[in-house]
Amino acid sequence: QFNIIKYEDLKWDISLGQGSFTRIFKGYKTDIHKGEKQVTEVLLKELDVAHKNSWESFFEAASLMSQISHKHLLLVYGISVHGVKNIMVQEFVKYGALDLYLKRGRSVSVSWKLDVAKQLASALSFLEEKNIFHGNICAKNLLLAREGDPLQGSSPFIKLSDPGISVAMLGEDVILDRIPWVAPEVLEDPDNPTLECDKWSFGATVWEIFNNGNAPLRGWDLKLKRQFYEAFQQLPPSQWTELAELISQCMSYQPAFRPSCRSIIRQLNSLITSDYVILHATEPVTQ
Ligand code: ATP
Ligand code: MG
Repeated sequence: QFNIIKYEDLKWDISLGQGSFTRIFKGYKTDIHKGEKQVTEVLLKELDVAHKNSWESFFEAASLMSQISHKHLLLVYGISVHGVKNIMVQEFVKYGALDLYLKRGRSVSVSWKLDVAKQLASALSFLEEKNIFHGNICAKNLLLAREGDPLQGSSPFIKLSDPGISVAMLGEDVILDRIPWVAPEVLEDPDNPTLECDKWSFGATVWEIFNNGNAPLRGWDLKLKRQFYEAFQQLPPSQWTELAELISQCMSYQPAFRPSCRSIIRQLNSLITSDYVILHATEPVTQ
C-alpha cells in the first residue's frame, strides 16, 4: 500500500527534536527520474526502537496519508526500513509546527487565524467524506507551508500531519496527556474512535490557535486532566462569542451534538463580518 524507499537513497541532516515515540530529522531523498538524479528535501520520522512493536500502526499512518490526497494534508512519500530502524519519509514543511510558530510571538491577525481554522475544517471535511478518522489533530500537527502576510492580505497555508501511532495502541498515560485534544469518549473506549472524536480535537485546536499556540491545560498533571473531563469542564470561552459557540459545540461531551463539517464551515464563514467588527473595534482610529 505504500512506497518503500531504499535506505541508501536517504541522506540525514540536522535533528529537529522528538515527537511521541519518534525522532525527527531533516533529510534528503534521491530519485532517478528519467535518467536524471533528483534530490528532494524531506522530513524523516524514525520510530523509537523502544516502540518498535508499534511499527504496524506507525506504517498504517504512513499508508493512510499516502493513499489520500488533499491540499491541506501532508504528503507522505513512503517508508524505509533498515535493520531495526523504521522510518516515515514525508514532505518537509518550511515553517514547521504551528504551535511553535505562534508561540514564537510573531503577531498574526484574527483573519490569519481564521484562515488556518478554515483550512483545517476543509481537511476535516475531506476526511469525513472519505470516512477516515485521523485521531491526532492539534496545532503541533498543523505544519505551516506558507506564512502569508496579514497586512498584504495574503493567507497562510497549512498542512495537517500524519496521526502517528493509533490511539488504540497508546497507553492510558499518553491518552490522558492528550487532554484536552483527545475526545472524552476515547478514554473509555480507545479501540472504537469515530469521526466525532476528530470534531472535538478540531474544537480544542481552534481554541489553541486563537490563544496563540498556548496549550490548553498545559502543565496540569494527569490526575487533574482526568478530573477535568470527569467534571465535564470546558476550556475558558473566547471573548468572541460566535467563535466560543463553535468551539463549545465541537467540544460537546455528547458526540452526537457536535456539528457536521458543513455546519463548521458555514459557521467559520459567517465569522468574517464579526472579524471585521473586532478588528475595527480594537484598533484606534487614525486620521
Ligand atoms: P505526534 O505523532 O505526537 O504528532 P510526531 O512524531 O509527529 O509526534 P511532532 O511532535 O508532531 O512529532 O513533531 C516534532 C517537530 O518536528 C515539530 O514541532 C515540527 O517542528 C517538526 N516537524 C514535524 N513534521 C514536520 C514536517 N513535515 N516538516 C517540517 N517540520 C516538521
Ligand atoms: Mg506530529
